[in-house]
Amino acid sequence: MKIVTAGTGMAAAEFVEQLRLEGFDGEIVMYGDEDYPPYSPCVIPFFLAGEPLDTVFWKGKDFYEKYRVTARLGEPVMEVDPERRIIHAADGKSESYDHLFFATGSHSRYPRPEWLATHGVFGFKNLTDMVAIDRYITEQHVTSAVVFGGGFIGVDAALALKARGLHVSLVHRNTRLLSQMTDEEGGQFATGRLAEKTGMDIRLLTTVEKISHTNGQLTSVRLSNGQEITTPLLILSVGVTPNSAPLWGDDQGVIVNEQMLADPCIYTAGDVAVTRHAVNGEPGIYANYPNAMRQARSAARHLLHGDGSYGGSYNTTVLRKHIDFPVISAGSFTGEAVTWQRDNVWRRVYLVDGMINGYIVIGDARISGYLYQHYLARTRVDGIIRKIISAPRHDGYYREMLGFASS
Ligand SMILES: Cc1cc2nc3c(=O)[nH]c(=O)nc-3n(C[C@H](O)[C@H](O)[C@H](O)COP(=O)(O)OP(=O)(O)OC[C@H]3O[C@@H](n4cnc5c(N)ncnc54)[C@H](O)[C@@H]3O)c2cc1C
Repeated sequence: MKIVTAGTGMAAAEFVEQLRLEGFDGEIVMYGDEDYPPYSPCVIPFFLAGEPLDTVFWKGKDFYEKYRVTARLGEPVMEVDPERRIIHAADGKSESYDHLFFATGSHSRYPRPEWLATHGVFGFKNLTDMVAIDRYITEQHVTSAVVFGGGFIGVDAALALKARGLHVSLVHRNTRLLSQMTDEEGGQFATGRLAEKTGMDIRLLTTVEKISHTNGQLTSVRLSNGQEITTPLLILSVGVTPNSAPLWGDDQGVIVNEQMLADPCIYTAGDVAVTRHAVNGEPGIYANYPNAMRQARSAARHLLHGDGSYGGSYNTTVLRKHIDFPVISAGSFTGEAVTWQRDNVWRRVYLVDGMINGYIVIGDARISGYLYQHYLARTRVDGIIRKIISAPRHDGYYREMLGFASS
């Protein structure tokens, strides 16, 4: 049996590793649009902050040799022909498959793609972006940057640049940073903490409207509120689009079934896959690393053993790189809100029918694992939730819940 993967990212690497670990001995060919061994996008901000490049290759730099893979790097898959079971690559060649694993992830959405032609303007999505930014900062002795986009990845970018020693301005169109992973009040709290603890210059309710350059080199950006920021570096991080076009011709993502199949011979996983939410059943793209891993393993198990089903995705988000006040959330922010705050710790749980529908924890994450278990188990917690979220000493709380005398 011959397996081809479109993508060499986190989902594809996990899938291939599982196949080999479980004894699959057939041919594996991996197509990737970059020229690297599989790496973890979650870790690339650490590289930008100054850690060695090798730390991003989470399954080893020798992945392709180790798992006996023919790697076609720098050769994106342009089109899939499910009828004939072949893919067409960018170099004009075709490759047949018995099973295709389609895990092409997503790409940055740019407000004005033509800005990227200016020296000093970059996306923040893949290792190619990161290596280019790193080189630019070093060669140009860059000391300040503007990041446009204050979602999870934009904040990740801003924190990495800050950790590298740059002065960072973070521009976001919403009333608060991290607007998808927080509600209004939680987002305001997180934004305040980020400003206070990192010294970042945060500009809300505005966008980057225009860039200026001299001889093709970025010099400043102008915001929609009329403000001007002098900077040699602009990072664009205003959203992503799934790379589903080679498969179905559109960028709406790839709908899969419980076995991660999009077609009888095509598995799909990761940031390109449309799955259902494990708790509320809503279809969507739940783009995070744990989901990608579970999806890849489900696909491998089904391919090898013909059994197993995925069980749905979770929308948990954890922001904790380069900060000591994590921001963690899961689920939906609707229902009855129960809030607790003390000093720099802020927690809110949303209840529907007495069960956790979603939660946000900022500043002290130790309670989040416990909330997560209740959220997944769908247990009624309305009688004890105030006690749970107001437990300043987590260990003591656990001892009490388990029936030990609290110290
Ligand atoms: C900066 C950053 C930080 C992140 N931090 C976190 C975090 O802290 N926690 C977390 O849970 N998640 C995080 N994520 C998200 C996480 O990295 C993704 O959910 C995960 O990588 C999804 O795996 P994937 O294989 O679907 O996509 P990717 O790992 O992005 O891999 C997709 C691969 O497909 C390739 N490709 C694209 N088009 C083609 C084509 N046409 N042909 C062939 N190959 C193609 C790409 O080059 C890439 O190698 C972060 C993402 C980014 C960008």
